[in-house]
Amino acid sequence: MDKLLTVKLEEFRRQNLYREPIAFEPLDAAHAACNGDACLLLASNNYLGLTHHAGVRKAAAEAALKYGTGAGGSRLTTGGSMLCADLEQALAEFKGAEAAVVFGSGYQANVGTISALAGPGDVIFSDELNHASIIDGCRLARARTVVFPHRDMAGLAALLAATPCAGQRFIVTDGVFSMDGDIAPLDDIVRLAGRHEALVMVDDAHATGVIGPGGRGTAAHFGLKGKVDIELGTLSKALAAEGGYVAGSAALIAYLVNKARPFIYTTALAPATVAAARAALRELAADPGLVRRLRDNAAFFRGELAAAGMVAAHEGTPIIALVLGGAAMAVTMAELLRREGLIVSAIRPPTVPPGTSRLRLTVSAAHSRAELAAAASLIAAAAAKLEILRR
Ligand SMILES: *Cc1c(COP(=O)(O)O)cnc(C)c1O
Repeated sequence: MDKLLTVKLEEFRRQNLYREPIAFEPLDAAHAACNGDACLLLASNNYLGLTHHAGVRKAAAEAALKYGTGAGGSRLTTGGSMLCADLEQALAEFKGAEAAVVFGSGYQANVGTISALAGPGDVIFSDELNHASIIDGCRLARARTVVFPHRDMAGLAALLAATPCAGQRFIVTDGVFSMDGDIAPLDDIVRLAGRHEALVMVDDAHATGVIGPGGRGTAAHFGLKGKVDIELGTLSKALAAEGGYVAGSAALIAYLVNKARPFIYTTALAPATVAAARAALRELAADPGLVRRLRDNAAFFRGELAAAGMVAAHEGTPIIALVLGGAAMAVTMAELLRREGLIVSAIRPPTVPPGTSRLRLTVSAAHSRAELAAAASLIAAAAAKLEILRR
């Protein structure tokens, strides 16, 4: 077996697509040590810096001390706790939904929800840039999946009209696209869904704590309260913990609890994780300045990069994609920046389509303006050195 795998691994290397887990020592929400040097993290999904908030850390530590380190069972057997129930209640209130359910990860939430709700005879309309966990959920559902061009509402409308469906139609989209940072036109999607009796599901992994009033996500951003059937999100990004959630009607949530296999057949999240997410949600509600600081930082950093001719100057999310093209260029630029003390992610196929390898830069509320200004200069200098990004 190893011989065959080695041949395949060599092929990954040849295409500059070989991957390895990276080992940093986290220092705080915005810095990590790599090879002994403190580097600026410009690649974390820790958008609000809450992983290192004193109150959030204390809540996690106290939960571990009081309730132990592991849940010891699944939610439906012995792993359920009042911590989970309390978190679900808080998430439902945060989203303005009847109920919510927590999964072990955002990945499991997508796979579990889509495969529980859709099946043969149904049709799922899925944006071409949706997250891999949505794609895997569609595959597992064994429903027909129709991929529509990215954010293209005329394209979606044409496909809805042209695709016969004996069962239920679903339209599924990322709220904030994870590798591009653009926002789905959810208002238009909801309008089209109404016309074609489709259910709408949005994945707010990068929208929770980021967009909408109080960081309530994409539906709130568009003022669509009560109009999106399934709102899914993660506890692993701005909420500084681990896990995924779905918010919606009481019937939807009860159905998922009974039917979603990645909810049923897995161990409940550890008490410390649940307590951290709950505390992060509390911080988000208590300090409106957090989301504002994130937005201001994102606008500032994008402005600095735009002034250097690197990106378009539009209003956006904290995710900034510097599309470079080939995988080798993205890797070279990330390595160059690493030597300058910046940690950025080189994103390559199959995470993004071939020919669109990129640096994915993410801004946090924990960054200072001075750090962001210095980082933008370093990135512009690296691009000049590599003679790329002349626009
Ligand atoms: C990160 C992400 C997920 C998966 O969430 P995890 O909690 O990391 O498993 C799902 N959807 C999108 C859009 C994501 O970016």
